[in-house]
Amino acid sequence: MPVVSPLPDHASPALRHDWGRDEVLALFALPFPELLHRAAGVHRAHFDPTEVQVSTLLSVKTGGCPEDCGYCPQAARYHTGVEATKLMSTEDVVAKAKQARAAGASRFCMGAAWRSPKDRDIPKVAAMIREVKALGLETCATLGMLSDTQAHALKDAGLDYYNHNLDTAPEFYGEIIHTREYQDRLDTLSHVRGAGMKTCCGGIVGMGESREQRAGLLQSLANLPAHPDSVPINRLVQVAGTPLAGTKELDPFEFVRTIAIARILMPKSMVRLSAGRETMSDELQALCFLAGANSIFYGEKLLTTGNPDTERDQALFARLGLKPMQIVEQHAVDAAPAGLCGDTVHAAITADADAA
Ligand code: SF4
Repeated sequence: MPVVSPLPDHASPALRHDWGRDEVLALFALPFPELLHRAAGVHRAHFDPTEVQVSTLLSVKTGGCPEDCGYCPQAARYHTGVEATKLMSTEDVVAKAKQARAAGASRFCMGAAWRSPKDRDIPKVAAMIREVKALGLETCATLGMLSDTQAHALKDAGLDYYNHNLDTAPEFYGEIIHTREYQDRLDTLSHVRGAGMKTCCGGIVGMGESREQRAGLLQSLANLPAHPDSVPINRLVQVAGTPLAGTKELDPFEFVRTIAIARILMPKSMVRLSAGRETMSDELQALCFLAGANSIFYGEKLLTTGNPDTERDQALFARLGLKPMQIVEQHAVDAAPAGLCGDTVHAAITADADAA
């Protein structure tokens, strides 16, 4: 029998940071309808379940990354057809941010394929942050590992959120990435929190990990000193030329279970569908929303008016009676106690990598 105590309907469990692996596995073992019922109860205890927050990710510096993340087409060592670009100009970034705002995004995330930014890059990124924020958008960045000083400099420029994913369970991390350690991730997250920014932190499933390792990812996220404000749950996008191309696909119901358990473990966080969403059916996305997902990612290629993917999203929202969360409401959520986070992911860039 599950070791998790039953939750009363629509209950709001206290925020916990001491989840045991057996407890998370017990949630995975629940009958699917029971798990979704619990997750939906937690969702509506903290959020309007008809609202979905929309973020946009722009790759401001693509490809050529020295890291070896097994899922990522931007790693220089893999032959994926992604061409390395230089850092975009502030002017071009601002033009994209205006498009994102017009498309309904409330948060704009700037991603750069770096192991970590060089100190000389920080003033350039800071200028982008200042100008995007001046448009009335929330700002987020994902730039790789940050030192304490760099985190403070970005915060001073007005950065609201920093994305840095745990990617997977600690014990599976070494199977996916060999150029940095799990502790490096934790250190950057600590610098981000220390600088007073919100954290966006999640992971990727479908990389060949076991259910226990999926539980380990969620356990690690929930047991951080503060729950991430945003928790992107990515489904692996298999890109030819990366080591993870050809990995056995994850059962879609297992993906929904992962979303539901993220919602239960981190009740006040935004649980985001990001990379991999383009290949999900409308029905699967609807199940994810039912399981507590309340945020989505628009990639930069989705920004152009009349883009079929954008139209599909808008049609799905209309069919499901969902509406984009407005910035003013997002601020109310952010004001909630207990440290939550923001969003974006190098991994999400992979969703658009073929087009990059
Ligand atoms: S996920 Fe980020 S750090 Fe890893 S290879 Fe891709 S761009 Fe580099």
